[in-house]
Amino acid sequence: MGKEEQEGEEYLFKIVLIGDSAVGKSNLLSRFARNEFDNNSKATIGVEFQTQVVEIDGKEVKAQIWDTAGQERFRAVTSAYYRGAVGALVVYDITRRSSFDSIKRWLEELTTHCDTTVARMLVGNKCDLENIRDVSIEEGRSLAEEEGLFFMETSALESTNVQTAFEIVIREIYSNISKKVI
Ligand code: GDP
Ligand code: MG
Repeated sequence: MGKEEQEGEEYLFKIVLIGDSAVGKSNLLSRFARNEFDNNSKATIGVEFQTQVVEIDGKEVKAQIWDTAGQERFRAVTSAYYRGAVGALVVYDITRRSSFDSIKRWLEELTTHCDTTVARMLVGNKCDLENIRDVSIEEGRSLAEEEGLFFMETSALESTNVQTAFEIVIREIYSNISKKVI
């Protein structure tokens, strides 16, 4: 393949955010895409996705990151939401055990709608709230190992590990594509 052709390649990766309501999905996205945090706790309405350009190995990769627009309040999101996704951040709140207990259900939903090669990251958000922690980091890590997921604790508020979490997923998708497993 010629150099021009290689340079002309375009990568657009659809990545979905899933997890219980109020775990911080929308704030993780706004932190990643706009470096903003919104203290207003209103459930997401409207925004469907944001596109962020990331450079990997000298190539421009467009990550199209989808937010649930509040659908998760009804404990499920539509199949259209998952369609074409090649990556997922499955989020819980480290101060709310019920959101951690829901992870298996979200993973099942993801498996139902997506290919098994979807790059998946388990995200324990709100790690700034150490004093009211309800799920230990070991529990998060061990669930991730069991399910074969990447794992990271984040804080959208303090901007801890947010960039890294998204970038690991994007790199994994890129490497899957290079290996042609997607
Ligand atoms: P979503 O329903 O999963 O999209 O969650 P939101 O992003 O709307 O956040 C729900 C609530 O948690 C809001 O009040 C946020 O301000 C708060 N929140 C989100 N991320 C963090 C975080 O990293 N740390 C803290 N302390 N609060 C957060
Ligand atoms: Mg939201």
